[in-house]
Amino acid sequence: MEECRCVLTVELPKDWKKISTGLNKISEDVFYADNYDILIDSPLEMGNQNILEFEIQGIKHFICLTGEGKYKDEIIINDFRKIAEEQIKFFGGKIPYEHYTFIIHLVEKGGGGLEHLNSFVAQFARLNFSDENLYRKFLGLVSHEYFHLWNVKRIRPFELGPFDYNKENYTKSLWIAEGWTSFFDNLFIRRCGLINDEEYFEFIENEYNDVMRFKGRFHQSLSESSFDTWIKFYRKDENFSNTQISYYTKGALVAMMLNIEIIKNTNCEKSLDDVMRILYKDYEKDRSKGYTQERIKEVCESVNGGELNEFWKMYVYGTDEIPVEEYLGFAGMEVTDTTNSASADLGIESRTENGKLIIIKVIDGGSSYKYGLNFRDEIISVNNFRVNEENIKSILSGIKPGDEIKVIISREGLIKEISLTLLKPIPKFKIKRMEIITDLQEKVFQKWIPG
Ligand SMILES: [Zn+2]
Repeated sequence: MEECRCVLTVELPKDWKKISTGLNKISEDVFYADNYDILIDSPLEMGNQNILEFEIQGIKHFICLTGEGKYKDEIIINDFRKIAEEQIKFFGGKIPYEHYTFIIHLVEKGGGGLEHLNSFVAQFARLNFSDENLYRKFLGLVSHEYFHLWNVKRIRPFELGPFDYNKENYTKSLWIAEGWTSFFDNLFIRRCGLINDEEYFEFIENEYNDVMRFKGRFHQSLSESSFDTWIKFYRKDENFSNTQISYYTKGALVAMMLNIEIIKNTNCEKSLDDVMRILYKDYEKDRSKGYTQERIKEVCESVNGGELNEFWKMYVYGTDEIPVEEYLGFAGMEVTDTTNSASADLGIESRTENGKLIIIKVIDGGSSYKYGLNFRDEIISVNNFRVNEENIKSILSGIKPGDEIKVIISREGLIKEISLTLLKPIPKFKIKRMEIITDLQEKVFQKWIPG
């Protein structure tokens, strides 16, 4: 009965007063969906949530906030509206839904979201509204999930809809579905003026640091990372960062590079914006099926005015180092390494379990990896000081790259002593504009980040 129209009647518990959903209404508590797909792609929030409203072109938008939180209604409405208006303008001004519902769960801690046809659900920590940095990230998330109403829910990989709900649906295109969305989400909050250039650069910086810290980028391509998400990305193990990459962060950086590549090759006439718009036109022409990987490349090449075989071979299908610095250079931006070269670290992540300091990750390229510390080793002492989570930093302070230290561990209940020479810490990069910028660099920058 997948194609059948269905009616849903909600019987609320006595003290619950409100229903928020993307479903169309027949009456206050009766809704309908044209088919099964729409029904299950429309979550319902039921309770006593705070519902805010705004209109764009006469179309109603509902922001449903569940749970206590330290926010101001008018700021939320204003910021959400700006994001929505910017994206609607981007796709030509026509709104593809009859109403939209933002469902926000205010929780103690945590975050994340999931897109739906004309709604999304996201989480944010109730007390974090006053932290500017965290609130910016939340706006990035709102922009991300909202952008999905185009990129994923409508412009979608061939494999993702109509779905076969009986099995996992595999696609090699999540680096477009999620990676490009991760590129555009922050760009939109910059373009609509909710953040400034420096704040925008910080988002790119975080993605760049995330990708460059880990050797996984040399082992798994974007295309493979997309395909393996069912068994890898959402089932991360301790070795994840050494062997795999995120199609979100690397996908966003490759989208940024591709954007600059197109701008550069078209004398600043075209960009990835144009690619997105053509893909949306494709969807409007034939809504029954999504894009193939080949179609994406074809559209990029037509906008670019020349083939992109090498680009795809190296950065989509391959594991070549991504030359982010070089691309940022075309836009008059530079990358600096801000790591304190006098400091050293063990290159592990650890946590306390039953009073023991246990290694939960050993990072490829770090000292511990090189000298044989392992996942699940208990660190007992460093240079004869008993260690715990709190004092490990002070024990390591003053120890420089090249110095040798003595670590005593317990592995599977056996005591071992390991000497290791500390290596430089994993680099931390900062992105800023160059001191001297040529006219061409400025033109590229303006085409990318107008505002
Ligand atoms: Zn997403």
